[in-house]
Formats: sequence, structure tokens, C-alpha cells
Amino acid sequence: VPVIRADELTKIYDPKTGPVLDRVSLAVAEGEIHGIIGRSGAGKSTLVRCLNGLVKPTSGKVSVAGREISGLSGSALRSARRDIAMIFQHFSLLSSRTAAANVALPLEIAGVDRETIRTRVPKLLDLVGLSAKADAYPSELSGGQKQRIGIARALALEPRVLLSDEATSALDPETTEQILDLLKDINHRLGLTIVLITHEMDVVRQIASHVTVLEHGKVVESGATFDVFAFP
Ligand code: ADP
Ligand code: ADP
Repeated sequence: VPVIRADELTKIYDPKTGPVLDRVSLAVAEGEIHGIIGRSGAGKSTLVRCLNGLVKPTSGKVSVAGREISGLSGSALRSARRDIAMIFQHFSLLSSRTAAANVALPLEIAGVDRETIRTRVPKLLDLVGLSAKADAYPSELSGGQKQRIGIARALALEPRVLLSDEATSALDPETTEQILDLLKDINHRLGLTIVLITHEMDVVRQIASHVTVLEHGKVVESGATFDVFAFP
């Protein structure tokens, strides 16, 4: 059973402008790093929002770990959404909270007990190599460090999938490299499935085992990165 499966997803915001997603199908297997690549306007953000249940497709369905989420709402949807954690281009950390307190936030919201939070937060900081910055505020961190905190926060509730939405797009090439290495490392060590949405071909080439290419809302290629990017 694929961890994420999209079947014939179509999304129409405005019938006058046609579908933003047009019968998009893809499957992400457990443990793989799957890149979804496309130019600006290709429909990547809409696809992400369908995959994480924020947007309801006009037709088609999304399953996460074999459970269809397209029809869920309320607490069932919230619980299914917990399987997919997100990291973002602009990190979206709370500036009033320290690095450790940002990582603790999803645990607090989920009602995890204080003792578990006290032991889990340092482990997460260690995983991303930022134990020394536990008490720093986001304004005291570099872009790469902020993204590491974003990653630690995303992993706090032990998701099945880490969904990266242009998470390296605001970073310089060297920092991008370091973050991609960290994601690869987390994929290896935890066996965590990672889906990377990006407009950067190099990002996909560097770490994705599988890739789906989106153009004008349609999947034009999908398969092993090696095959998709092979030259004739
Ligand atoms: P990408 O992330 O690849 O840039 P998007 O999913 O953001 O693509 O956008 C694809 C197309 O859908 C664009 O033409 C955009 O204007 C349109 N679009 C995105 N969100 C909405 C919305 N909420 N309402 C109407 N049109 C939208
Ligand atoms: P706030 O005052 O915003 O509630 P706290 O400082 O109380 O923030 O921290 C929130 C959470 O972050 C706490 O549950 C605590 O366990 C965790 N935390 C804070 N500082 C550290 C730290 N240095 N190492 C590990 N966990 C921390």
C-alpha cells in the first residue's frame, strides 16, 4: 500500500479558467523520497493542499496510508492530517518562542504530557543538530538553522510523511545542500517517507529516488528519477 496515493485528482477553482489540476495520479511508496517538480503555476501548491486535506478536489481522491481522506471532515480529517507533516519556504516559526518551544508546540497542541515533551524535544533538536540552540529565538538563528527547527517541529508527532513545500527555496546553495543532506539522513535513519515539492531540478536530482513532473496541472512524467532524467 502506498503511503500517499492520488487518483485522478481534478481541481477547478473557476470553471472559466479550467482545471488547475487535471486528473493527477501519483503513488508514493513507504520510505521513498519523491520529488514533485513543476514551474510556477503548474499546480504544485494546489496539489500539496489536496494531499494534506486543506483543499477538497473537485473530483478524484487522496489516500494516506490506505485511508481515503478526500471525504473526511472535522476530527477525522485532523487526525488523518497528523500523518503528514509540513516544512515551508519561510519556516513559519513563532518569533516569540525559543527554538525548543517551537519544537514543543505541536506536542502541546496535541495534548502530549509534559514529561514526554521534556524528553522528546531534546531528541528532536539533537536529530537536526541544533541542541546548542535550544534556547535561541528564531531571530538569532540563520536560515538553515530555522529550517532545521522547522524539520524538528514537523517530526515531533512522528508523522508518516514529511511534505516539503519549497523548503530550500529561500536558502543559499551551500545551506540548501546541508538541508538536503539532513533530509537524506533522516530518510535513511528513520525510514521516513519524504515528498518534496520544488521548482528546482537540482534539488530533485540530488535526493529524490522518484519524481513526478507537473505541467499545466497535468502529470507529464512519473517514475524513478534515474529514468525520468535519463538522456536519450
Ligand atoms: P504552483 O504552486 O505550481 O505555482 P498553484 O497551485 O499555486 O501552482 O497555482 C496553479 C494555478 O491555480 C494558478 O493559475 C493559480 O492562479 C490558480 N489558483 C491557485 N489557487 C487558487 C485559488 N484559491 N483560487 C483560484 N485560482 C487559484
Ligand atoms: P512558553 O513559555 O512559550 O510556554 P516554554 O519555555 O515553557 O515556552 O517552553 C515550551 C516547551 O518547550 C516546554 O514544554 C519545554 O518542555 C520545552 N523546552 C523549552 N526549553 C527547552 C530546552 N532548552 N530543552 C528542551 N525543551 C525545552
